[in-house]
Amino acid sequence: MHSPLFSNSASIPPPLTLEQKRNFIQVARGKQPADLVFTHCQLVNVFTNEIYAADVAVRYGRIAGIGPVGSFQGKQTIDVQGQYLVPGLVEAHTHIEDALLVPGEFARALAPHGTTTCVSDPHEIANVAGVPGLRWMLAAAENIPLRMLFTLPSCVPASPYESAGAELVAEDLLELAHDPRIASVGEVMNYPGVLDGDEVLLDMIDLGRPGRATPLGLAVDGHAPELVGLDLCGYVAAGVQSDHESVSAEEALQKARLGMWLWIREGSTRNLDALLPVVLQQQPERAGFVADDRTPGDLLYEGDLDYIIRQAVQRGLDPVQAIKMSSLHPASYFGFKDRGAIAPGYLADLLVVPDLYDFRPRQVYVGEPWWPKMANLCLMLLRCPRIGAKRSNRQLICALSLWSVCVCLVSMVPLA
Ligand SMILES: [Zn+2]
Repeated sequence: MHSPLFSNSASIPPPLTLEQKRNFIQVARGKQPADLVFTHCQLVNVFTNEIYAADVAVRYGRIAGIGPVGSFQGKQTIDVQGQYLVPGLVEAHTHIEDALLVPGEFARALAPHGTTTCVSDPHEIANVAGVPGLRWMLAAAENIPLRMLFTLPSCVPASPYESAGAELVAEDLLELAHDPRIASVGEVMNYPGVLDGDEVLLDMIDLGRPGRATPLGLAVDGHAPELVGLDLCGYVAAGVQSDHESVSAEEALQKARLGMWLWIREGSTRNLDALLPVVLQQQPERAGFVADDRTPGDLLYEGDLDYIIRQAVQRGLDPVQAIKMSSLHPASYFGFKDRGAIAPGYLADLLVVPDLYDFRPRQVYVGEPWWPKMANLCLMLLRCPRIGAKRSNRQLICALSLWSVCVCLVSMVPLA
């Protein structure tokens, strides 16, 4: 087994220049050398539900060409020896704060399990520190080993009966919404308020409207446990598009029938056993897996989406469908056009997996190989939380960061 390979992954990579695009096209055609070629892959295609032999050429951290074995020349070639090449996994709904970790450490826990894009709802820190807390979270998520994206917390506080450290309205979030790392409007938890026509909540949902916060609009995440029937219709009519709180197959099916994206949660709260039958029987197009909350122990000993894929496959789900529900489906929900599959122009977020029925990524790539970017990785680990850190505390944090660098370097030595 080899340790995962990381890179300095920008959450939103910069566009290619004209010259780079011209070169990229020639690499895709096999007429110019790639940075990296994966050879002898069994490519898992989540567009066509196929698995077939292929080589994959990577340039500028993106997938350029896909062709038969021997199609491409590369400055570096990785022979995956017939193992599966799988798109990097996309976590559609989680909360970094619930894992009691800062973004960099959370990313280090997730990335070895194959999660290469993670959408986190920072509503915990928003409840404590408001917009400055959100800005800190965005800053702390730069230069980490996966692509960390965020939602705009829609319910701060979660209900009028709570005493939170901040109260947010849509106007407070408009400026943040311009950050390209904002993926959606965060989970709309106060569904009774939505059904009662609460002005603040409806204005929050309106942040998803095309032209309000962003030109193309944002997805609006839901949170409506046990909401069914006509009240569910009202919630969907308000503009909420997904839900991860279903506890029964009947409830999940109702939500899927109304066009909601059905996120099956298997984290600290576990709904897979109850909801998987809907996927096995109705095969909804809009379905996927999320963790929501995970403890560091869960992340360490079970994993992230890889764990849910293993559990779903054990319960009878086709492995390619399970992968698709953890890659292409969440990417489609958020409108990502550059991840969630293996295709020309997509980010080279790739997993090498020996066995699809016991899904454990052996190698994880986020963009480019880690070796040219080691300096940046070390810098990332030296970054310390800056909210009110006193000078004396910074010395302690720097000492801990240096210790992290040592642990990281040791962990990157191939194990066999
Ligand atoms: Zn949540």
